[in-house]
Amino acid sequence: MDQLADEGYLKRLDGRYALSESGLHEGALEFAASFDELTRPTHGECSADCWCHNSPEEAAACATERADAEHAAHEH
Ligand SMILES: [Zn+2]
Repeated sequence: MDQLADEGYLKRLDGRYALSESGLHEGALEFAASFDELTRPTHGECSADCWCHNSPEEAAACATERADAEHAAHEH
C-alpha cells in the first residue's frame, strides 16, 4: 500500500487509504476497458448488418453460433 501511495495512486486520509485523483483515473480507464470488452459484439464477428438482427430467434442462433465458434477456437 505504501508503494501505491508513493506512486500517487493512493493517499492517506484520516489514517485510511483513499484513491487519489490519478488512482481514480486509472480505475476509470480499467473499468472502461473491461466494460468495452463486455459490451462489444463477440470479438467483432457479428456486425451491425448481420442477418441475425432480423429476429430474436436469429439473434439467439447467431449468438449460439459465435459461442460455439469461440469455444472451438479455445480448445487445445
Ligand atoms: Zn449476428
